Amino acid sequence: MSNLSSSSTGSTGPRGRGRVVGVPKSCWCGEGIVALISKSDPNPYRRYFRCGFAAKHRLRNDDHTFKWVDEALLNELETLRGKNCELELELKELRTERLEFDKKVSENVQMKIEKELFEKVEDALSEAKTSNKKMMIVVVLGCMIMIGFTKLVG
Ligand SMILES: [Zn+2]
Repeated sequence: MSNLSSSSTGSTGPRGRGRVVGVPKSCWCGEGIVALISKSDPNPYRRYFRCGFAAKHRLRNDDHTFKWVDEALLNELETLRGKNCELELELKELRTERLEFDKKVSENVQMKIEKELFEKVEDALSEAKTSNKKMMIVVVLGCMIMIGFTKLVG
């Protein structure tokens, strides 16, 4: 862990500098965060977030917010990556749910269509049967009339 001041005793309280994950929004003291550039030898020109109060009063070895910008951004990136993973999982779940739903719907539609087709075929068959009967009656009647006619003529 890199600190601005190597002389730090590491007495970080529960709200200490090492506890901040990601880009700090404000310090625990209520002060806003400022972005500064380090002028220390171990970290020259390295940017860092600092409590506005601590920066204004040039505090040293304090517990006010301190966070390297690159580390903060790395944290944010990791959090985002985690969130992306969660989102991807959710998306996958939604997709499988949708697929199953589609499958069920198409199965239902298939069944419905088959049922309707079956009913239609049945209807057509019964209709054909009755029309056949009608045809038979017509033919029989026609024959009888023909016979009767020929008898009348003959
Ligand atoms: Zn502060």
